[in-house]
Amino acid sequence: MDKFKYRCINCDKEHLETEVKYLCPDCKKRNTPNNPPKGVLKTIYQYDKIKERFTQDKKHETLWGYLKASGFIELLPIKSLKNLPNLQVGSTPFYKIDKLNNSKLPFNLFLKDDSQNPTYSFKDRASAIVSAYAKENNIETIVAASTGNAGSSLAGICAANGQKAIILVPEAAPLAKLTQIIMYGAKLIPVKGTYDDAFDLSIKATGAFGWYNRNTAYNPLTIEGKKTVAFELFEQMNFKSPNRIFVPVGDGVIISGVYKGFEDLLNLGIINKMPVIVAVQSKGSDNLTRNINNKTFKIKASNTVADSISVDIPRNFYMAKQFIQNYGGEYLSVSDDEILKASTVLSKNTGLFAEPAAATAFAGLLHYQANNKLANGSSNVVLLTGSGLKDLQAVQKTLKIPEAIEPDIRNIIN
Ligand SMILES: [Zn+2]
Repeated sequence: MDKFKYRCINCDKEHLETEVKYLCPDCKKRNTPNNPPKGVLKTIYQYDKIKERFTQDKKHETLWGYLKASGFIELLPIKSLKNLPNLQVGSTPFYKIDKLNNSKLPFNLFLKDDSQNPTYSFKDRASAIVSAYAKENNIETIVAASTGNAGSSLAGICAANGQKAIILVPEAAPLAKLTQIIMYGAKLIPVKGTYDDAFDLSIKATGAFGWYNRNTAYNPLTIEGKKTVAFELFEQMNFKSPNRIFVPVGDGVIISGVYKGFEDLLNLGIINKMPVIVAVQSKGSDNLTRNINNKTFKIKASNTVADSISVDIPRNFYMAKQFIQNYGGEYLSVSDDEILKASTVLSKNTGLFAEPAAATAFAGLLHYQANNKLANGSSNVVLLTGSGLKDLQAVQKTLKIPEAIEPDIRNIIN
């Protein structure tokens, strides 16, 4: 029997791994432009069989070592760890923060710093799994459409794993991410238009040239990589779940990954309650949360400082919506002003410089704090998904670099 199978998020039909690589064949026929795609697949394991194998392992040094020692390796869609890139993906720092702006916090605040992945973003978790799967299936070329982070991630991971990466980006992607993609030796193809235009073109190219496609909410395995953060959080909290997790949301894939990891733990009976997951969007790009209760999907053109979560058509809308509705998830949107302020508060108080998309999640936490929505003693995690160095331009307008002075002590004001 196969290690895993796929289940369509919209029609519930199950598919074998050998039959389908991307979307549900039935649902994808009915997809139309300007609507989120139906037919995204969820990866399902034989939970009953692997239930017994879990142990609380604390002796490992890496994410993969942890997954192997704990038994969670059975929840990955790859055959062997040896096909993963030789880079430290995951095992990212987890910090407890006691004070903000000099006041002691009445609740527990934890920051999961996923900017400390090899290419400085959360996306390495997904790229590593996709890359290993490609290796196991003798696929040499992987293509992705990206607003920047997924592309720079795939480029770096492929460089480490001896594979070829082709990255399509909207032409407005930040310079640091474009630079990374080229430095890692990937083929960079800037596309006139939005992320959605780059996405559609990458799918056409996948069909035309036989490449393997890493696009999120298209390739089901990206969620399986992203879910590893849930396993790590569970371990870093001493095998407990937090009360709330604040996650930045654009196309709904990272949040679905976090949910999927905890859902796997629920299916194994390792936890008995889903943590409250808070989807935080930018007000300038809130196409996912704004449409959750709408009968028909209505697009609003995105315009936000948080480029990584600037998305007109959230590709994983249906799965994210299902998770949020099934598990009592919460959601809110914050303004660009709140995002930039949150970025400053975070940097000055913690020494962690996050990119605007990651600061969006922190802005969500600050919003909850200001509205007294965090119970005393509760545990709250903010997922920081990318480094601030990836998008310096975004914060430039909030700061002023001082003019140079003559090197004379009298010019220094103490
Ligand atoms: Zn379907």
